[in-house]
Formats: sequence, structure tokens, C-alpha cells
Amino acid sequence: MCMSSLIHRRHRSLYFLGALALVVGACATNPVTGRREISLVSESQEIAMGLEAAKEAANQMGVYPNPALQQYVSAVGMPMAKASERPSLPWSFTVIDDPVVNAFALPGGPLFVTRGILAYMNSEAQLASVLGHEIGHVTAKHSVSQMSRAQLAQIGLVGAMIVRPELAQFGELGSTALGLMFLKFGRDDETQADELGFRYMTGQTYDPSEMTEMFRTLERTSGDSSDVPEWLSTHPDPGNRVSRTQERIASWTRPAGALKTNRDPFLMAIDGIVFGEDPRQGYFQKTAFLHPTLKFRLDFPPEWTTANQPSQVAGISTKQDAIIALTLAGKASPAQAANEFLRQEGIQASSPSTAPINGLPAAVGRFSVQTEQGVLAGYVAFIQLDDTTYRILAYTAQTSIGAYEGTFRQAIGSFRRLTDPAALAVKPNVVRLVQIRSAMTIAQFQQQYPSPIPAEQLAAINGAPAASTSFPAGSWLKRVAAE
Ligand SMILES: [Zn+2]
Repeated sequence: MCMSSLIHRRHRSLYFLGALALVVGACATNPVTGRREISLVSESQEIAMGLEAAKEAANQMGVYPNPALQQYVSAVGMPMAKASERPSLPWSFTVIDDPVVNAFALPGGPLFVTRGILAYMNSEAQLASVLGHEIGHVTAKHSVSQMSRAQLAQIGLVGAMIVRPELAQFGELGSTALGLMFLKFGRDDETQADELGFRYMTGQTYDPSEMTEMFRTLERTSGDSSDVPEWLSTHPDPGNRVSRTQERIASWTRPAGALKTNRDPFLMAIDGIVFGEDPRQGYFQKTAFLHPTLKFRLDFPPEWTTANQPSQVAGISTKQDAIIALTLAGKASPAQAANEFLRQEGIQASSPSTAPINGLPAAVGRFSVQTEQGVLAGYVAFIQLDDTTYRILAYTAQTSIGAYEGTFRQAIGSFRRLTDPAALAVKPNVVRLVQIRSAMTIAQFQQQYPSPIPAEQLAAINGAPAASTSFPAGSWLKRVAAE
């Protein structure tokens, strides 16, 4: 949890769509296909929305704090973008501090790759293949046409959310409407982005067989539960990508001169990158949430399912009928924040109690609210630690509030300053490069240089099909180690 914004990343599309409410339809030429298409979004609107959403994405997920790596990724992506059909867009390339395996493009040119996907790449050409694909989504205006369609389908719901923004925070409870609005491209768009990515990377003389390797690695990660390859879920498989890429290579006119793979420069650029969840951004010990950087602890009820998301930490009851969610609430005093929350239109509330919680200034109020899912009831607590006010929102259906009252109060009462020195000093795992002196398999490498991940996953981050795959002497291999 970066705790830098209150909005869950799934809600990002609300901002795009909200801004579109008054846009009038217009005909525009698709820069890639040359076809005339109905678009509800002009290029300047596309750029403006993309920049707005990029700010949001960077805030919510956090920019990975390594300027050299940021520059490196940009230096790989920018020449492809500048050589594309839309060279004058304000292209940008950002590594975000997220362990999931993902890459995405926003309208108008902001592109993002996670540190999670970089850990699974093994050459600059592989990075170019992913960036090229994402550039393709922008040049072919996939997000724009997707937004147009999504807007038409969802305008009613979005309108309701804009008029009554206080309802948006209750959308998580059993509602799939928000999830459906997350932009997702179809198979045809993916095929086209693959084709364009192939063209862009080979235009910079990158070896396109590395695109095949990248798809193989991404497929391998799909069975791996620890780092869910979000790229695969937001990128529906357009048929057999590997064989399609091989077909493209077969019918491609290879340029004179050497093709670039740039394995070692890439590996040097990601040496030391954080791997997996970064516990400094908060982690769970059973159902206790500990945040070493912000120095607090919150105990969720035992047996609840918990999640540490970029903008909130949440728990859901075993019956899935109650939620407790912790978010940042800015700098206002707890009493001020509580009054503001409870005064919102549609909320019935008692006046908040301001007794301190574990010595921290706090305000706790009981409320009920009418939503599309019926009447919800619960508690909202604002608690101040150092300069920051936190909000804990605990709610359920009004008919169940009796059953959860004690649980909610107990969870809210558990918020306190984290003082355990071991918890405060926790360090993340990082990717470390090791040059092997003799030929060895991944399994042997794992024995000599243990990594706290399964041998199969170690093989996957090294782009190897299996733990039995052998590497020649002198190869640089990745291991995962404590920082
Ligand atoms: Zn895609």
C-alpha cells in the first residue's frame, strides 16, 4: 500500500469516463489503419485524459524510485514511439513500484511497466517487445475506441457515481459494475498491438525472436499464484501468440547487419530491483497489518480475508457480508474529518465520539446509508498518527449490524503505533545478478545461491523453460536475495 491516494486503482476509469460526459461524437482517421472511425474523443482530449490518468496511476501505484532504471526504460521505448505513426504525442515511460507482472498504456502516450514484469524479462529486446505492444495500443487508438464504447454502455451508472460520489466508496461490496468498467482490449486489438509491436521493435533492429521468448515467459508465469500476471488478465490471449510471432518472423525481411538482444545491459539495469511485495509498504502477519514506514498496526478480525491494495488495506468477513477498510484521510483533525464524512448527503449518523484510541487522537461515528445494495450500516473512525489522519470504514448490511458491532469496534480499537523494532527494520527481497563460473542448471544454481522462491519460478525469471535447463559458464543469472 503506497497510501498516497484514496481511490482504488480499479476506479481509474471513472475519471476518464466522467470527463467524457459532455463530449460530442466526431469522425476521425485512425492513424494506423487509415480508416475513418467514429470517435467521441478528440486527440487533445485523448492527451488530456491520458495525462490526468497517468498522474492518478503514478499516485496510486507509486513510481519506482530508481532514476537510472527509469531513464533506461525510457531510452528503449522512446525511439520506437518517435518512429511510430504518432511521433508527436507526449510519450512517457514509467516503471511503477508494483510487484504484479503488468504493463499498460494510457490514452495519448503515457506507458507504464511494473517492476514485477521487469523481473521476468531477460533482455532489452524483450522489454522492447512489451513496450512496442503497448505503444501499438496507443497508436491504433484502442483505448479511445474502448472508452467510446464503454462510455455509451455505462453513462447511466457513471452519471449516478458522479452525482453521488459518496456512494462510490460502497461500490466494493458485492458490486461488479465497477470492475466491468476497467478498460480491457479485445483479441483483435491485442493481435494488432502484437503486430505493431513487432514492427516497432524490428524497426530498432531488436531481435524479434525475443518477443517469442517474452510470450513464453509470460505464459509460464500464469500458473504462478505469487505474482499474478495481470498483463495476461488485462490482455486476453489472441490465440497462440508464440506461433503467430514465429510466423511473422518467417515472413519478415531480415535487415542487413546484426540484430540487438542486449541481454547483459538489461540485466545490469535491473540488478537490485525489489522483488515481490515490498514489506516496507505494509504487510500482513496473519490478519495483523503492519506498516513499518508509516509506523502503525491494525488487527483485522481473525479468519477474515485481507488484502493490501495500493490505496487501501481491506478485510472481508468469512461470510463475505462485512468489510473493514483502512485508507489515508489527509491532514484534517479526526473530529473535522468525521464530521465531514458523516454530514454527506444520504448518510444518517450519530455525533461522533472523540475518545483517544491507544493514546491517539480519534473520532468514531456510527452511520447508515441507503445504497443500490440496500441500507448499509457501520462505523467510521478517523485516527491521527504523527501528521497523518487514517480512516477506518467498517460496514455491513443494516440487518447484520448487530452481529458485527463488537467485531468492528474491536478492529477500530486495535489501531496503534508500531513499535516492534524487528517489524520496523523489515527489508524487501531484491533481484541479484550472479555470474556463474561453470555451466549449471537452474536447480544447481538454486543450491549454490539459494533464493526464497521455488526453483520453477527461479527458472521463469531467468527465462528458462524448467529448473533442469542448463546455462553455460560465464552466464549472468538472477537470484532473489534479501536486500
Ligand atoms: Zn495489449
